[in-house]
Amino acid sequence: MADTNLMSIPGQVDPVPVARDITPRADGRIDLLGLPRERIRDLFAEAGLDEKQAKLRAKQVFHWLYHRGVTDFDAMTDIAKTMRPWLAERFVIGRPDVVEAQHSTDGTRKWLLKTDDGHEFEMVFIPDADRGTLCVSSQVGCTLNCRFCHTGTMRLVRNLTPGEIVGQVMLARDALGEWPKGAMDDLGEESESAYTSDGRLLTNIVMMGMGEPLYNFDNVRDALRIVMDGDGLALSKRRITLSTSGVVPMMARCGEEIGVNLAVSLHAVTKDVRDEIVPINKKYGIEELLQACADYPGASNARRITFEYVMLKDKNDSDEDARELVRLLRQYDLPAKVNLIPFNPWGGAPYECSTPERIKWFSNIVFEGGISAPVRTPRGRDIDAACGQLKTTAEKKSRAQRDREAAEKAQTVEA
Ligand code: SAH
Ligand code: SF4
Repeated sequence: MADTNLMSIPGQVDPVPVARDITPRADGRIDLLGLPRERIRDLFAEAGLDEKQAKLRAKQVFHWLYHRGVTDFDAMTDIAKTMRPWLAERFVIGRPDVVEAQHSTDGTRKWLLKTDDGHEFEMVFIPDADRGTLCVSSQVGCTLNCRFCHTGTMRLVRNLTPGEIVGQVMLARDALGEWPKGAMDDLGEESESAYTSDGRLLTNIVMMGMGEPLYNFDNVRDALRIVMDGDGLALSKRRITLSTSGVVPMMARCGEEIGVNLAVSLHAVTKDVRDEIVPINKKYGIEELLQACADYPGASNARRITFEYVMLKDKNDSDEDARELVRLLRQYDLPAKVNLIPFNPWGGAPYECSTPERIKWFSNIVFEGGISAPVRTPRGRDIDAACGQLKTTAEKKSRAQRDREAAEKAQTVEA
């Protein structure tokens, strides 16, 4: 599917390695996962189909691929039997490799996944009574180094391709057994009525896994377009939320070209504190960020912007901080809600979580200021699946390995 190439992303700030969208497999076949209809059509035409055939087959394959979750061309029953081997010789439909799947005592599930070129990343599924939310990664690691976030400590960073992003949603549907079933042999009326789109466990998507989605804008946009396509995964944009740490120059395009709900990792209300805990603040300050939120296309009282605020003891959790938060959100007249996230600890983290009483009190002040400020219940902490805990096992192992090596070296020196 992908192969790491170092290149800078035009017009963007910190360049990170990106993968080519198509890298043929060793046997020469091309993976269609993550490609849009038009790209599939072009590939079919390049492989020898005439224009009309290429368009029709691309439409059919797109449907089977994304709407029905089929990975085998032989199962595409409305495509002529003779045509299916022709497709299978030239193309494949892949999935990210699953390295490990974990289940939390609270029902949260986490998968450690691997790209074709060996980079590991994670996705998390959080079931609730009335919804099921998939937390999707946009990068392997993250360049932004927020001080309270474990992902930000990963050394290796690479953008995920549209296939690797959309592949997470497909894998989740595979694991939850959620693809629509039923006959659809000739797309005729009779078989269409036998086709059932099952009740959904996966109802919502949040781009809140590893990485900064607006540093991988094109791939995230292309993947989410497939997720939102009525003939693709068919999830409404109202059920998708993209979280950014505040990449101001990309926010308008996010609203215009993707149109999903926006969440902003604010976390602090003064320059000093935000500079320390969310370093991108040195580039795009709080005022600029809140102005970009006020200008966000599609935001309204019915579709409010979520401001995420991680509760760090004695750092950003005072009464004054809460009052300043209300003042700022009001000053910019933002259709806002605040999500208070108790800090999720990880080994070596430089902060502690605020006390439950402090969090409650902070929440009350914001509520009294007229802004909803629920406290988010941490999920999946026992399997390191909670916000900011994502960091791949491979990295953890290599760190442990390094520590062991360092200890051995020290011993040798001592001896
Ligand atoms: N990079 C994006 C999206 C991924 S992080 C962003 O920063 O918005 C998803 C959310 O988890 C962000 O609000 C992030 O700040 C928060 N988070 C990171 N580390 C955390 C931790 N240790 N405890 C609680 N929340 C954390
Ligand atoms: Fe990156 Fe978000 Fe973690 Fe900051 S909080 S380091 S932007 S993943």
